[in-house]
Amino acid sequence: MPINVKVLDRPIEDVSYLKATLKGMALTARHLVRPHKVTVQYPEEKTQLSPRWRGTHRMLTTETGKAKCVACGLCPTVCPANCIKLVPGEDEEGNRYPLIFEIDEFRCIFCGYCQEVCPEEAIFLMQDYSLTGTSREEMIFNKEKLLALGGVHNDRILKWKQKAKEAQEQE
Ligand code: SF4
Ligand code: SF4
Repeated sequence: MPINVKVLDRPIEDVSYLKATLKGMALTARHLVRPHKVTVQYPEEKTQLSPRWRGTHRMLTTETGKAKCVACGLCPTVCPANCIKLVPGEDEEGNRYPLIFEIDEFRCIFCGYCQEVCPEEAIFLMQDYSLTGTSREEMIFNKEKLLALGGVHNDRILKWKQKAKEAQEQE
């Protein structure tokens, strides 16, 4: 049995190549007289990043050069990409510190959870997007590299106390 297909007539303005071409040329002409710059000459020029940008990591130290991290284990626990390796150690005074601390920047999804959860504010994500390397090993940032990228932060951090105070103020 033959199938009847109903062919609809489309309005001429929707199928006219001439109209679409003229519209495109008008847009090009408009940009010729009123240029809107959308490209940058990277790497000489860099774009302005959002303050909320989350790039590669760094770790802060105290004024004595010790890592601020107390190897609490929260960041590897919350990390959704499972890319933080932490082996805790203990010094002669019983203070915990990261014996091994590594972040695989290849696997990281830059969610920022590690920064959010850290009670000591020891780990931060930088305003950086030029992440390059020639091998997988190079993209694993170990403690030494993270500390070299970080800076010194002398304050005793009581993050959760500050957060509780902020919450009380909002009530
Ligand atoms: S930014 Fe997210 S994915 Fe990357 S190391 Fe931190 S918690 Fe893991
Ligand atoms: S959450 Fe902070 S203190 Fe705890 S292991 Fe991670 S970096 Fe160290």
